[in-house]
Amino acid sequence: MAAAPILGLLLLSRLYSRGDSAGLGRAGAESQQQAEKFLRKYGYFGSMHRGLDPAEFSEAIREFQWVYHLPLSGALDASTIRHMSLPRCGVNDLDSRSAWKDRVDSMLSGRTVRRRRRKRFSHQSGKWYKRHLTYRVVNWPRYLPEHQVRQAVKAAFELWSNVSSLVFWEAAGDPADIRLTFFHGDHNDGVDNAFDGPGGALAHAFFPRRGEAHFDNDERWSLDSGKGRNLFVVVAHEIGHTLGLEHSPVRSALMSPYYKKLGKDFVLNWDDILSVQNLYGKPPRGSVVQLPGKLFAHFQDWSQDLEGTKHQGGDHSSHYCWSFFDAITMDLEDNLYIFKGGHYWIVSKGGNATGPDLLRAMWPGLPSTIDAAAFSEEDGKFYFFKGGRCWRYKGSSLDAGFPHKCSSMGDLPRHPDTALYFQPLHHLVLFKGPKYYMVSGESLQVEPYYPRSLKDWGGVPAMANGALTRPDGFVYFFRNDQFWKFNPDTLRVVESGKWASQLGWLGCQDAALNQAVV
Ligand SMILES: [Zn+2]
Ligand SMILES: [Zn+2]
Repeated sequence: MAAAPILGLLLLSRLYSRGDSAGLGRAGAESQQQAEKFLRKYGYFGSMHRGLDPAEFSEAIREFQWVYHLPLSGALDASTIRHMSLPRCGVNDLDSRSAWKDRVDSMLSGRTVRRRRRKRFSHQSGKWYKRHLTYRVVNWPRYLPEHQVRQAVKAAFELWSNVSSLVFWEAAGDPADIRLTFFHGDHNDGVDNAFDGPGGALAHAFFPRRGEAHFDNDERWSLDSGKGRNLFVVVAHEIGHTLGLEHSPVRSALMSPYYKKLGKDFVLNWDDILSVQNLYGKPPRGSVVQLPGKLFAHFQDWSQDLEGTKHQGGDHSSHYCWSFFDAITMDLEDNLYIFKGGHYWIVSKGGNATGPDLLRAMWPGLPSTIDAAAFSEEDGKFYFFKGGRCWRYKGSSLDAGFPHKCSSMGDLPRHPDTALYFQPLHHLVLFKGPKYYMVSGESLQVEPYYPRSLKDWGGVPAMANGALTRPDGFVYFFRNDQFWKFNPDTLRVVESGKWASQLGWLGCQDAALNQAVV
């Protein structure tokens, strides 16, 4: 393969795309429109709001900035725009400030303050008038075993029953007070509630006593700490709404509208506990049981579950075939390495899978999970990326000076989606959202003129889980259960499909067959 023409092409298209800088004004108007749409959807304008009154717009921005701990400029600055695009709950933030103020007042005065809802915005009707509530999971998300989802949902309800007088039961097929359902796109509860694909609004729920929580089935739901959105955290948050809780401006609260990873120590914050107790009182015995987050750690890491069943003789050598993985790469002997949670599998050239084995047993010093991994044919080393840091190993020994803080020293993206050793250019490539970065393996610095748009990789999807180059020269990208085969000469995707059933070298064909029979 000729490297120079590709580099030339990439650079040429870079120069070409620079010519489009006249669109800045248009971009500004677009982000203003987007912001207005966002503020309207999340309840920052009164219901009477019609056109774009600059003072009203600025006031809405200021309110948003207050709820999200941003400088109160009232202007649509870069950090405000960025906060609007973060994954979050689809329920609006209406009343979140006044409800919080009431909670603080009641805490300071030691008595319950009646909620003063702003009348014309009021759309929420309080609470349940019974203590025993039933729930049901109506359908199941893709990629996750039913029994694990059921366990996580049960634990999510327990978070709330542990700190209040409420008791929850799973309804066996009967009508239930609270129903959890996974939907794609528009699902008949209003245009504003239509799901928007991966990212953006992840889920929403209705206040009592409708008893509905909806989850976006286009999200990559997960119960481990690897890639994907942690379903346990999102379910626990939406349950809060079905009980009558509004969004909390307290950053570490479970009821804060932004998606966050499961914390190490506590899942519920004092503000969450206060909110639910204001509505339903304390647990019957008077003692508040606050369960530490680490008791729920097994929802973050299915691998512990796996360890347990491994000793009972369960075969997990093809477990990776049923779900999505965090990263994939291939060494000089054409052995595939597939990473998921705290484990990895090796698939030999002949398609035989072995594992899972512990990541840290092979590469001591790695974090419990990784974002991306690549094996470089150039230096025969493994590169791992997690958050803003990177690790480099020769075999099992970590190179001196690692882990590096790569995001600050080398301008590498934090939490890259995918890492790839790209043979034609003898470079590592990191992919993150709609951009990619050409990175020197030696210095781990981003090369000049990068990042660039993913459009250079004709047809490769954003947010891939992993990528590798096969001996035939084609680059394969993986996302969830799909693959894309990319021709580096023509810079085009030439084929796509389901990897478990269509790519024999991933070692899943027997597994896929078994699945089909069952
Ligand atoms: Zn919410
Ligand atoms: Zn809905």
